[in-house]
Amino acid sequence: MQVPAQFAYEKATSVDDAIELLARHGPESLIVAGGHSLIPMMKLRLAEPSTLIDINGLTDLDYIRVEGDQVRLGAMTRHATVLESAVVREHFPILPDAERTIADPLVRNRGTVGGSLCQADPSEDLSAAFSALRADVVIRGAEGQRVVPVREFHHGPYETAVAHGELLIEVRVPIRTRTGSAYQKVERRAGDWAVASAGSVVSLDGDTVAEAGIGLTAVGASHFVAAEAEDALRGRPATDEAFTEAGRIAAEHCAPSADQRGPVDYKRALVAELVARTLQRATARARGEA
Ligand SMILES: Cc1cc2nc3c(=O)[nH]c(=O)nc-3n(C[C@H](O)[C@H](O)[C@H](O)COP(=O)(O)OP(=O)(O)OC[C@H]3O[C@@H](n4cnc5c(N)ncnc54)[C@H](O)[C@@H]3O)c2cc1C
Repeated sequence: MQVPAQFAYEKATSVDDAIELLARHGPESLIVAGGHSLIPMMKLRLAEPSTLIDINGLTDLDYIRVEGDQVRLGAMTRHATVLESAVVREHFPILPDAERTIADPLVRNRGTVGGSLCQADPSEDLSAAFSALRADVVIRGAEGQRVVPVREFHHGPYETAVAHGELLIEVRVPIRTRTGSAYQKVERRAGDWAVASAGSVVSLDGDTVAEAGIGLTAVGASHFVAAEAEDALRGRPATDEAFTEAGRIAAEHCAPSADQRGPVDYKRALVAELVARTLQRATARARGEA
């Protein structure tokens, strides 16, 4: 199939209007943001929404701002905006690291932070990056809004905490002192989906790892997180030996599938290497060395 099935189209004028339109058009209606995941799925008839509710007019959801000890990103912030943001680069270099590897400028100019998280594709790079950062997401519906840790947001492939009638409106990322972060991906060609990716966040107390966040993409990690490797690092000296060991643990506990991108052993080997390398880089950044 190359053309979508017929659908009705509505353009939301505000967040409340989008929520009202979702209620009016029922469970077969879907939000469209950048459309870079949804439209291809519609062409393949993997998604057949009765109505598309377009939220591209909601420019008040397109922002990156510091509020207290958090950076807040609106759901309609485009990949390109995240990539170019000085605030993001200063506090969370893991995000531009990841954004640089996502597709190409055409996709990055249009695709959104909210769409990436809500698509919940197991290969989505931002899901791993925000999980490593221990971000929260804000979901709004007719009854009001709730804040959900991003580590509880993904319920499985293509399933999230967003119920029908609700909208993801914001991502909140905590700013931490003496913290660095980094992301690396192996792809078959530039701009492709990951064979495997890892993102790490390291907070230091002296030369000890006070807290670590490790996100994994495309290798079947529960909630995109290498929790066992994080546990093994916490409280240990920030050394290359500790990072290699964390990589080994992450590789052991993830669950990659063999596919056209490679066999399971290859993907586990990539995880071990990418986790160790991103932990090293994140630590260098926390020390102000990179
Ligand atoms: C050629 C190509 C290559 C790509 N490569 C990569 C890659 O390497 N890495 C990567 O991470 N991504 C990649 N992407 C995906 C890209 O990041 C998309 O932008 C992203 O997946 C979806 O964002 P979107 O705004 O286009 O969402 P849409 O396609 O508009 O929506 C996706 C889903 O989220 C829902 N949704 C959207 N916004 C909201 C909201 N605010 N609240 C509730 N539900 C919402 C929609 O209903 C839909 O179900 C690629 C895409 C293409 C086309």
